[in-house]
Amino acid sequence: MINIKLQSRFDKKYSNNFPLILKESIVNLEENFIEGRLFSLSNSKGKFIGYGYFGKQNKGVGWILSFDKKQKINDTFFHNKINLAIDKRSDFFKNKSTNAFRLLNGEGDGIGGLTIDYFDGYLLINWYSKGIYSFKNIIFKFLNKKDFIKGIYQKKRFVLGGKCIQEDSFGCGKPVDFPIIIKENGVNFAINLNDGAMVGLFLDQREVRKSLMKRYSNHKNVLNTFSYTGAFSVCAAIGKSQKTTSIDLAKRSFPKTKEQFEINNITLENNEIIVEDVFNYFKFARRKEIKFDTIILDPPSFAQFKKKRFVASKDYKKLLIEAISIIKRNGVIIASTNSSLLEMRTFKLFVKEAFYDSKYDYKIIEEYSLPTDFPSLKEFPESNYLKILFIRVGNIQ
Ligand code: SAH
Repeated sequence: MINIKLQSRFDKKYSNNFPLILKESIVNLEENFIEGRLFSLSNSKGKFIGYGYFGKQNKGVGWILSFDKKQKINDTFFHNKINLAIDKRSDFFKNKSTNAFRLLNGEGDGIGGLTIDYFDGYLLINWYSKGIYSFKNIIFKFLNKKDFIKGIYQKKRFVLGGKCIQEDSFGCGKPVDFPIIIKENGVNFAINLNDGAMVGLFLDQREVRKSLMKRYSNHKNVLNTFSYTGAFSVCAAIGKSQKTTSIDLAKRSFPKTKEQFEINNITLENNEIIVEDVFNYFKFARRKEIKFDTIILDPPSFAQFKKKRFVASKDYKKLLIEAISIIKRNGVIIASTNSSLLEMRTFKLFVKEAFYDSKYDYKIIEEYSLPTDFPSLKEFPESNYLKILFIRVGNIQ
């Protein structure tokens, strides 16, 4: 194992257990960097900080795996981390109504650069760097021995020759025909582990879907914007909504959303799916005076459509103003963002300003962040990206 050293200005940051290796923090990085290479890191005065591996991701060039000088980084280290992550999810394994969850969440479970999701016996591994991918044999061999795992799929999400490779492939075990149908709080979802970067369901929104289904759907007219495969709409329909409208501009969203309704035995009679830009739809709804009881806003952090672009950290207030213009009094806006650039404080400020400008009172009635199967480190708050506010719309000021 090689020894690497911090630039002195980073000594404090890393002595506080910061886990991500920043390019500018290391002395002579270029000479030492090899994907997957293990290192021992010391501060500028030579004091031990931790052991880690090199791997270039969109942020950072590696991860610290242990701050304990006595820890050996070998096969057993990886095995133990995976076993610990599995043990922590024992409640999920016992749950009869949910069989999809995150099994290992990167640095939050001690292995930065790697996530493993569990879908009713099938695993999806995301390798975020060539470096972590170099440990694939250790990880595959170990997982393949677990009898609760039927098959393993993988996505290599790292940069090679400047191109982001999101090739999907079968890893090991028993291959399966997709989609597979998983359950979340009793609702069926179709999952594809071999079809592009997204699988059909964002597991981190599980609690939000449950709350929508239980508390904000019954007899409600529900609008789901940026609806993707319509997961929120299906939950609203199961929660006895009067009507759902799903809006997404991607053409694939129509057949994918239709499929999610079908596998739950719900007809499209009261569930409209519209392939369109949400900002056009807001205009249309205003013109037709269509009003909603519940509106879900779950945009990507960044989106470009024709000449328009949406950047959550700058434009979220505009999106809220649009939603307020077509919501009924006492209605609820479920505003979500996964932008790490938009902090909760600013997000709440956008809410305050949007309601002030629209001249309505409001009350935040529920707040969510990542669920327990997506643990993050307090030393690395950047990874706690998800913020969701349930906002009740009040009287005109
Ligand atoms: N809310 C979804 C996930 C959203 S993913 C869920 O819970 O599953 C983001 C989606 O926004 C993508 O499907 C993308 O096609 C869509 N999108 C991006 N810009 C859009 C726009 N201007 N109008 C409508 N949909 C848009």
